[in-house]
Amino acid sequence: MSEQRIKTSTPIMPKWDPTRTMKANVFYGTCDVRVETVPRPMVTHPKDALIRVTATTICGSDLHLYHNEIPEMMKGDILGHEFMGIIEDVGDQVKDRKKGQRVVVCFDIACGTCDYCKRGEFTGCDTTNDSVTMEKMYGYRLSGIFGYSHLTGGYPGGQAEYVRVPFADINTLPVPDSLPDEKVLFLSDIACTSWYANECAQVGKDDKVAIWGGGPIGQFSARWAMIRGASSVVVVETVEARRKMAESYPGVKSLNPDGIDVVETLKKMLPGGPDACIDATGFRYSKTLVHKVERTIKAETDAVDILEEIIRSCRKYGRIGLIADYVGYANHFPIGALMEKGKLSILIRGGQCPCQRYWKDLLGRIEKGQIDPSFIITHRPAFEDIPKAYATFDKKEDGMIKNFIRPPSAVAYT
Ligand SMILES: [Zn+2]
Ligand SMILES: [Zn+2]
Repeated sequence: MSEQRIKTSTPIMPKWDPTRTMKANVFYGTCDVRVETVPRPMVTHPKDALIRVTATTICGSDLHLYHNEIPEMMKGDILGHEFMGIIEDVGDQVKDRKKGQRVVVCFDIACGTCDYCKRGEFTGCDTTNDSVTMEKMYGYRLSGIFGYSHLTGGYPGGQAEYVRVPFADINTLPVPDSLPDEKVLFLSDIACTSWYANECAQVGKDDKVAIWGGGPIGQFSARWAMIRGASSVVVVETVEARRKMAESYPGVKSLNPDGIDVVETLKKMLPGGPDACIDATGFRYSKTLVHKVERTIKAETDAVDILEEIIRSCRKYGRIGLIADYVGYANHFPIGALMEKGKLSILIRGGQCPCQRYWKDLLGRIEKGQIDPSFIITHRPAFEDIPKAYATFDKKEDGMIKNFIRPPSAVAYT
């Protein structure tokens, strides 16, 4: 890990309360996370809130950390970036939040005042991530992220009883008591990120949409696509339980890609080919032997098998939303198919979702009953069983799609 860090507008590490402890899920190494008793954080900066977490979960992207495939993970890091709770304490300069308020916290940490934040490009926030490595890798740094390696700052995460949240006025969303945690927790990431996938792919009225990956983002993306007026959606997914969940929504079909020609099949299922495609899989999934080998020998970090399938499937002049957490470098990128095969005007957009830009609108849609995000919850493990839940989720066993987890201190209140 780089010794040198860039100065941030807020301390990365909270002050720890010397008199109190809490339970948290802590990273130890590859496929090794443990629930431990650790010090409790405190309000550290005048714009902070301290949140007592009432609900948290494991994200598909946490599995990249679990496999130690994101640079700059350190033993002892507290994981988790999807959580909500009750404000326990606020700093002197927090204006619009107060103790006792129930809020969702977004995964991305924005300052609210830099040029990126002013434009609503919150995941581009220039002042909350101190990683020199990321600047070297990407040319720029994205915002800090809770519990997501020192590449995104190294902020302690939300699989914990308490979390210190910087810039509370920007990074928390008050939620009405009429909606249970199960319906609003996912505004912390996946409900917003899947909406953003649709925004990137410009999904609109009468579109035919294909989505790769029936995990939480793929499931939500399919429903949002229909809500945005798509005529039909196909979810490409190998796991049967995930295909079943996708198909339980009117207008959504699914496709098992194993052993078939996905491009040709999609042309039949969506005549003319998909207008919009969403990649909700992940950089770790390689289909072909060549990418399996190259990832194993570290000749590349990311496999582009899925993206190649998407570029070949997408109709000419179509749109692609890329949301699948690519992190590094890939070989055999199909630049020819993108450029030459009449697809000159295919549009690819993607990236990390600025939740703060969308979450009020999406909360309104939840309040109106357009969507009930709790459909995604398949498991409710006890907090001390988080390590087991990681293992099950990682192997896609037991039909696990999304966990809903109450920390021990929350159980008494809910
Ligand atoms: Zn997430
Ligand atoms: Zn900012």
